[in-house]
Amino acid sequence: MSSKTLSKFLHDNLEDLKSHGLYNVIDPLESGNGPLIRIGGRELVNLSSNNYLGLATDERLVSACIAATKAAGVGAGAVRTINGTLSVHVDLEQKLAEFKHTEAAIVFQSGFNCNMGAISAVMDANDAILSDELNHASIIDGCRLSRAKIIRYKHSDMDDLRLQARTAKESGLYNKLMVITDGVFSMDGDIAKLPEIIRIAEEYDLITYVDDAHGSGVLGNGAGTVKHFGLSDKVDFQIGTLSKAIGVVGGYVAGKQALIDWLKVRARPFLFSTSMTPGSAAACITALDILMNSTELQERLWDNAHYFKQGLAALGFDIGHSETPITPCIIGEEVATQTFSKRLYEEGIYAKSIVFPTVPKGTGRVRNMPTAAHTREMLDKALSVYEKVGKELAII
Ligand SMILES: *Cc1c(COP(=O)(O)O)cnc(C)c1O
Repeated sequence: MSSKTLSKFLHDNLEDLKSHGLYNVIDPLESGNGPLIRIGGRELVNLSSNNYLGLATDERLVSACIAATKAAGVGAGAVRTINGTLSVHVDLEQKLAEFKHTEAAIVFQSGFNCNMGAISAVMDANDAILSDELNHASIIDGCRLSRAKIIRYKHSDMDDLRLQARTAKESGLYNKLMVITDGVFSMDGDIAKLPEIIRIAEEYDLITYVDDAHGSGVLGNGAGTVKHFGLSDKVDFQIGTLSKAIGVVGGYVAGKQALIDWLKVRARPFLFSTSMTPGSAAACITALDILMNSTELQERLWDNAHYFKQGLAALGFDIGHSETPITPCIIGEEVATQTFSKRLYEEGIYAKSIVFPTVPKGTGRVRNMPTAAHTREMLDKALSVYEKVGKELAII
């Protein structure tokens, strides 16, 4: 028999979400997550994946995954520190260090896991973390897990960061101080002000931690936001994910050898959760080889992003101030945003609405992720549907 308390809790809260239109219904894909997807038997232009370079369905990665799976099996069989470190994991870590221009790298099962493990391996209750108020949920949770004091600074506000860093330093309350930021902020597509963050970090001796989940493969000739600013040797923790531009799954920290050595003995998901599958690791290596040998996919991504952004702006939509391929189309009011996204869907365009509390009230948006794999024809179709629905709902 199940708990009455739990049943009541679940029932009340689910009803509450549903009555406020906040219950998220998940639509499973009947295809891979490429530029076109199939849902409920219908084909749609997909503008909601993080598969920036189209690598999730790339034949070269698929072949590498199959070959490694045939050679080493579907599972790694143990955690990394017992005997779940296969040579393919070591190869991937070497490749990542090369890709990021750092001494070493450590791979986790996901970007989320990486933030759970890496922050708390270094920070504790006697420390403080300066955290951008718009940082990703996994950074927020990783900070909490460390039990360090969390000091939020206003989004990309360098005066506020400097003030908070000085106050924390002068208080004498903390052993270590860290500043932590997304490289690219996923809701608006803006880039962290890394050169200034690094200056402030040098002034107040802050450990620097940049989670570049949306920047790797996209900025800095593929190597990410830190490389984009020429700061590869100035950032202590360079975090990335293997699930967005790289197209597979996993997360990593790239940095100095001593840091990586420490994480390999202290980061709990590395010690207590089974390592990434051999097939995934091999597919990631293939993706990195592709990125390190050619900028073709990045160029196509940026071409498509510029084309789509110009198209939306020319139609009269508010596309915010993104500096990356992430293209918000800001509608404003929450219900109007959801209606807009629903009408796009009915017309064959998959672009999810994002509303409060994920973004501030009154800034509801449909977020578009044009990728290297979209053709002009697909983007033109999306633009013509945007025009139709925008006029119909009197947004343009
Ligand atoms: C997506 C994202 C993550 C999570 O990465 P996964 O590999 O999907 O777990 C972590 N940090 C940031 C900033 C992200 O955008």
